[in-house]
Amino acid sequence: MKPKLEARDICYSYHTTDGETPALSHISFSVPAGEFLAVVGPSGCGKSTLLSLLCGLLEPEEGSVLIDGVPIAQSGQAIGYMLQKDHLFEWRTIYGNVSLGLEIQKKLNRDSGVRLRQMLAAYGLKGFEHSRPSELSGGMRQRAALIRTLALKPDLLLLDEPFSALDYQTRLSVCDDISSLIRESGKTAVLITHDLSEAISTADRVIVLSSRPASVKAVFPLTFGKEYKSPLKRRNAPEFSGYFDQLWRTLKEGPETE
Ligand code: ADP
Repeated sequence: MKPKLEARDICYSYHTTDGETPALSHISFSVPAGEFLAVVGPSGCGKSTLLSLLCGLLEPEEGSVLIDGVPIAQSGQAIGYMLQKDHLFEWRTIYGNVSLGLEIQKKLNRDSGVRLRQMLAAYGLKGFEHSRPSELSGGMRQRAALIRTLALKPDLLLLDEPFSALDYQTRLSVCDDISSLIRESGKTAVLITHDLSEAISTADRVIVLSSRPASVKAVFPLTFGKEYKSPLKRRNAPEFSGYFDQLWRTLKEGPETE
């Protein structure tokens, strides 16, 4: 079976009046359907650039991005995003926000409306349909943002530090909450983060990038005992500190890292 997502030898540089900034250098990896992949790397190494290439916002200078074996520009597959900010509109109700994508795509009908209400109930937002975003907690807002994303039934989810705007305590529980929901939905997901603990607690595999221009430095498959299913439980698993140590050392070692 073809991987859901494949980055094949991609290179990318920014060109400005000050010159060229190489951001990504010969990056290759593939993500099988249903996998939760985390990508970590030092600040400024090119993580967000990589995500922009994976979703087709930027085109690689060399190499290609394939979804189900088809170049991204021709694939027509739905990609969902979650970003650092939830980008909910204050002038719309929660229902108005989660239905926005469907409305724009003219797919908001009786059936999709029922599905949205089911998701709102399943994700703990029943009774908040008519509330404004400012009336919700940070965690509830991120859940609303996730429903808005999942409403379009994306095959692939790209997450760019989606929890980093939250305070530490909220961040732990929202990360637990949202990544469990993503896992239950069986979606393929790529999480970009600079937080090693977040990567280890959520992912099936972690890719470590070098400092800029980013290349793949190492790949760590993660396995935990069955009883450590959720991100919060994983943090207490005996394997956790070993993985943290390995990732930390990999990030720091070598002449090309910061
Ligand atoms: P990260 O997400 O890992 O912090 P980015 O992908 O945002 O890194 O940026 C990688 C590098 O590319 C940085 O050195 C940044 O300064 C540079 N960069 C990012 N966006 C632009 C741009 N639009 N023009 C020029 N350089 C950019």
